[in-house]
Amino acid sequence: MEDLIIIGAAPAGLTAGLYAARARLKTVLLEKLSPGGQLVSTDRIENYPGFPDGISGFELVDRMRRQVEKFGLEIRIQEVTRLELTGDRKVVVTDQAEFEARAVILACGAAPRKLGIEGEEALTGKGVSYCATCDGPFYRDQEVAVIGGGDSAVEESLFLTRFAKKVYLIHRRNELRATRLLQERAFASEKISPVWDTIPIRITGSTAVEGLDLKNVKTGEVSHLPVDGVFAFIGYEPNNALVRDQLDLDERGFIRTNHDMETSVSGVFAAGDVRSKMLRQVSTAVGEGATAAFAAEKYIGSLE
Ligand code: NAP
Repeated sequence: MEDLIIIGAAPAGLTAGLYAARARLKTVLLEKLSPGGQLVSTDRIENYPGFPDGISGFELVDRMRRQVEKFGLEIRIQEVTRLELTGDRKVVVTDQAEFEARAVILACGAAPRKLGIEGEEALTGKGVSYCATCDGPFYRDQEVAVIGGGDSAVEESLFLTRFAKKVYLIHRRNELRATRLLQERAFASEKISPVWDTIPIRITGSTAVEGLDLKNVKTGEVSHLPVDGVFAFIGYEPNNALVRDQLDLDERGFIRTNHDMETSVSGVFAAGDVRSKMLRQVSTAVGEGATAAFAAEKYIGSLE
């Protein structure tokens, strides 16, 4: 039986792993793909303290991974398929093994929200993308549309200006949600054209994206915008499929915790983007990962 199982090896899970390893807890750290989560697809992080010149998401993750491994915790690449969290013995079933542990930290993150419009699914990977860092270089001297008005949409629009000749930033209101600094940069870019009060209603193209049908939400007017790529950044959905029936979630499906990161089930903690909270950042994820591991250590101690 393990002391602790951590699910997810992005900033929250890696930090929890670091603290658990140093606390000498018998820990398993599980990750379904490769470490890093959404951070690896972020070109540059400018607001994580300690890196005044910024750092690439990939490098920051790699440094976190090396730090965890230095303290003896190996990341196991296995996909969790079932969780039994309610008893004293937590059961974690993966595609390769079955584990039992006294405590579990859920750091399984969130996934990009889909637009839910015609053409999106069929053209994903054929011009529809949720990752500018991954696909931006394919759009050299082409025209692309970015959907959304938050930090992700604006930051990724700015990144896309390195390649695309034109970036249409399509937002459903007439004011961006993104941080002021990012807004200033976007408005200063000659390549970024905001399209206000507008939502996409259909992505057109048979084998590749050819354009977008748009609707002005104020006037109801429908128009067509020819573009070569569509990048959607309209927020994230929590990866909660395995815990939906077992834990208390907020109205959007994020896991509710107390200040010590404990969920509605004792011995089960949550940290990072999957947790119900106001601010989703690398800096908040690492703090929550540390708190969750510390609280899990106290909980395990209380059982003995
Ligand atoms: P977000 O802040 O939730 O913004 C989502 C944007 O998409 C909003 O502008 C929203 O419009 C729009 N939207 C939502 N649903 C839509 C729909 N169905 N159709 C059209 N538009 C829709 O998401 P995010 O930008 O991905 O950011 C997620 C979190 O990560 C935030 O906490 C953010 O601060 C953080 N983040 C930080 C950085 C950074 O610090 N550099 C970078 C990336 C992300 P409304 O504005 O009208 O609601």
